[in-house]
Amino acid sequence: MAGKKAAGRRKTAGTRGRGRRKRKRAVRRRRTVSPLMRKVRMALSGLAGVMLALTVIYCSNHPEALEDLRGRLPEELTVSWQTEQPGPVTEDGLQVHFIDVGQGDSALIEADGQAMLIDAGENDQGEKVCQYISSQGYDSLSYVVGTHPHSDHIGGIDDVLYTFRVESLLMPDIGQDTATYEDVMEAAQSRNVPVSSPEPGEQFYLGGALITVTGPTENYGDDLNSWSLCLKIQYGENVFLFTGDAEAQAEEDMVQYARLRGISLEADVMKGGHHGSSTSNSEILLEAADPNTVVISCGLDNEYGHPHEEVIERLARMGCVVYRTDHSGTVTAVCDGTEITWETEK
Ligand SMILES: [Zn+2]
Repeated sequence: MAGKKAAGRRKTAGTRGRGRRKRKRAVRRRRTVSPLMRKVRMALSGLAGVMLALTVIYCSNHPEALEDLRGRLPEELTVSWQTEQPGPVTEDGLQVHFIDVGQGDSALIEADGQAMLIDAGENDQGEKVCQYISSQGYDSLSYVVGTHPHSDHIGGIDDVLYTFRVESLLMPDIGQDTATYEDVMEAAQSRNVPVSSPEPGEQFYLGGALITVTGPTENYGDDLNSWSLCLKIQYGENVFLFTGDAEAQAEEDMVQYARLRGISLEADVMKGGHHGSSTSNSEILLEAADPNTVVISCGLDNEYGHPHEEVIERLARMGCVVYRTDHSGTVTAVCDGTEITWETEK
């Protein structure tokens, strides 16, 4: 902490010093530059300004142009960029189950015989989630993701860790001082499950499905929702986007981050952010993702009024098909890499 402060002071002092030197040089120049040269310089700097403005306008209208500029971005911004492609599509295909856990989130993703769970609902939903995973024929999971430490997402994860062989637990780099969070950490420790916090831009495979971490892209302090681990899942041409409970600012940061790195957020299916809350599902993310279908995971007549009416209206305006677990029970997307067919429990 002390080191950081000292570095900050040094930086400020250095900047001031440079400013003084610049001013001195400018004064000397004014004395020696002829009026003609001054006009030439003004014309050149004006031209440079116009070129810069045109580049910025072009890039903001053509996100792919930013991808072309990637090579010129500072190295530290591009280090996590990878160019992996989804694996070959097989007969097994990809299934994404949005499990009905009442007011909470839980999704089971199956690709080529491998399974990943994203969240496991509240503490009292752990058993149901475990039963669901077993009913799909699994006794092990490649990944369990706890998007963020709130109990409606990680509550059932300890049950999952005790019931199945889990290769890896992925969570954002933020904890919470609650019994629920402690239970999950304790379960991971006692079952020897490594816990890691992948960085945005990192990619990994689940069977032939390529999974890209798209958030969180910033430090969100004590705003746990915005720390949500966000994942894009690609299988053949089918793309799913999971953003946990990330709030609108985190969504915008993710869109900017993805644009700068040429990562497309376009998705066939988006899990509605934060159970359909109006504090998420911003137009900027919905425009970037441009989903055909949005699945909202929420409890019937929940105390938060999720999904919010304004989000449902926004999705309708954008022509999205909406599935809700409070109305349809568990909702499953069956994908062959091209087409997606939907099954609902109710
Ligand atoms: Zn939640």
